Amino acid sequence: MTNFNTQLLKILCETPGAPGFEKKIRDVIAKEVKSYADKLSFDNMGNIIFYKKGNDNPDKKSVMVAAHMDEIGFIITHIEDNGFLRFHTLGGFDPKTLTAQRVIVHGKKDLVGVMGSKPVHVMTPEEKNKIPKTTDYFIDLGMTKSAVMEVVSVGDPVTRKSELLELGDCVNCKSIDNRVSVFILIEAIKKLDRIPYDFYGVFTVQEEVGLRGANVAAHQINPDFGIALDTTIAYDVPGAQPHEKITSLGEGAAIKIMDASTICDYRMVAFLKETASKNKIKWQPEILTAGGTDTAGLQRMGKHGSISGAISIPTRHLHQVIEMAHKDDITNCVNLLSYALAEINQFNWDH
Ligand SMILES: [Zn+2]
Repeated sequence: MTNFNTQLLKILCETPGAPGFEKKIRDVIAKEVKSYADKLSFDNMGNIIFYKKGNDNPDKKSVMVAAHMDEIGFIITHIEDNGFLRFHTLGGFDPKTLTAQRVIVHGKKDLVGVMGSKPVHVMTPEEKNKIPKTTDYFIDLGMTKSAVMEVVSVGDPVTRKSELLELGDCVNCKSIDNRVSVFILIEAIKKLDRIPYDFYGVFTVQEEVGLRGANVAAHQINPDFGIALDTTIAYDVPGAQPHEKITSLGEGAAIKIMDASTICDYRMVAFLKETASKNKIKWQPEILTAGGTDTAGLQRMGKHGSISGAISIPTRHLHQVIEMAHKDDITNCVNLLSYALAEINQFNWDH
């Protein structure tokens, strides 16, 4: 693997940004892309809008690319008399994945806590067989209520704690969903050369709670074309049937055909496939029947809708702290996005 900026991906994955609390990750991204922009702006919701003017654009066309910068997290709802914290989830958690996790509570300062739950030793046989609920868990900071109250308030966000590791040719961390797409958009921005149409690279907020930032940004930008970047399921693991895989690690950039929120425009699907094949970029098709992405906002929140699709990054163990993606797939996604932005005016969009 040449030129893979693992250090940047590590910083992006490890920087916190629960939905609605994206300031820290927003600052990191803005600093990284600022010098490449004709204009860098922020809307009232906190989306980052990177703009670069097109070089061959008589018809005044625009392309919007969206990568959400938030990550699934929690919000403190109550502080118990003995100092334990109750919380609500921000985004779709599988409750069983909370067991024995470390988290960071972002109060007046950051505090590491652990997700506690009832020990197996004191569970009844019925409790042992029950599927856990998120409300079975609490956060233990190891502190008294008065010490907790000095730092933590109801409404403080909480994120998961994990460090990025390289395993084989893969990267492994929390928040690969969706910092890997933030990484891909940043790397494509750094490689931008001549692009025909006006380009808006948007790092969106609050995707994990319902595509909220992308909706506002697409409404404002009103693009002709939209490409979302997000992770997708790679269920290429023991016990999976071939028809259940969705995608596989190492098999290339995934070109979205549909997800639960969007039927991608058949022209955008054809364009991305053609661009990949022409430039010898490994790709695989993706159909995700559960779960939505910013693609929906891109497609439908502009005044006349847009011709939209998505490039997805195959990811194992999605929405767990051990999300895993393959470096080759990530590089293929950067290349596919770069070529798509450069060649978008060469495609026959009328067919
Ligand atoms: Zn995502």
